[in-house]
Amino acid sequence: AQKTVLITGCSSGIGLALAIKLARDKQKRFKVYATMRNLSKKEKLEKAASNTLGKTLEIKQLDVCDEESIKTCVSNISERRIDILVSNAGMGLIGPIECQTIDEMKTVMDTNFFGLVRLLKEILPDMKKRKSGHIVIISSVMGLQGILFNDVYAASKFAVEGFCESLAIQALQFKLRLSLIEPGPVITEFEKKVYEDGMKMDLSAADEETAHMFTDVYLKNYNQIFQSLGQSAEEVAEVFTVKIILAENPPFRHQTNTLYTPVTTLKYADPNGNLPIDSFYKMVFHHDRIFHASLNFFKLLRWSSRKNIAST
Ligand code: NAD
Repeated sequence: AQKTVLITGCSSGIGLALAIKLARDKQKRFKVYATMRNLSKKEKLEKAASNTLGKTLEIKQLDVCDEESIKTCVSNISERRIDILVSNAGMGLIGPIECQTIDEMKTVMDTNFFGLVRLLKEILPDMKKRKSGHIVIISSVMGLQGILFNDVYAASKFAVEGFCESLAIQALQFKLRLSLIEPGPVITEFEKKVYEDGMKMDLSAADEETAHMFTDVYLKNYNQIFQSLGQSAEEVAEVFTVKIILAENPPFRHQTNTLYTPVTTLKYADPNGNLPIDSFYKMVFHHDRIFHASLNFFKLLRWSSRKNIAST
């Protein structure tokens, strides 16, 4: 039977790419409810969906920060049946914390963490009753490891990871599956918006050294990191998320970017936690040349892995 998939945050990026990929499935295995906060942004999705629109893909309004909009959306789905929930909506925030307001930070937590909680409060009871369902959450490598000037964003993804790790134990009893997808850098609107906001940031509340660290070290290297390590939304959605959704026994955690795994591995290599922190510190502040050499190394790896894929 056709599986019902509800995806949040489909006006752009990974959500849009995944919605299209599933809706275009040749065997028509999915009925996709591609949701977005603001329906006035549906044009890009509509265009990409073309003849799947109204057939295997429907566009619906859903704001993960608004309980009523979640309720309305779910209640309008036949028998409230959602076989696969993809919690994708999210936002970033970079910069020194002394230059961010508590309200800005709360919006990040409200979207990235409470957004998921709200969805599950509405959808989980139905899944439990049916004893079937798969919850796929787009987390991040920053749900495993903090990164300079991403303090609040990393905290929001850590919250997601802790929440899901706890819930996964209960889910087993109800035969439900939970999967955390952990991408490294992905080239989407997200990264552009975060960078532009960073460039516009009022740094007057920060001391000179911190302001310099942010603009001349962090922001200066930001684009380089995405260029050398970044995946496309289609890569994350098509190759990995689809694999997870279709897997018989999907893993609880899945990192999408093999170039990034050496970085996350540092965390598990040292139970004291110093290794990743020291390595990031040295990379960013003391060994600029090593940092650039690693980026070039990543570029080379990426080029050779693409070449290998192309020749197989
Ligand atoms: P994106 O900005 O293109 O997509 C995020 C989507 O979420 C947007 O369409 C946005 O409108 C939507 N959204 C924001 N607030 C919402 C709300 N209240 N209700 C409903 N929708 C809302 O960026 P993306 O890279 O495709 O991000 C998708 C997910 O991937 C996010 O959870 C993000 O944290 C995660 N992620 C991104 C990267 C990256 O580098 N881009 C890396 C790791 C993880």
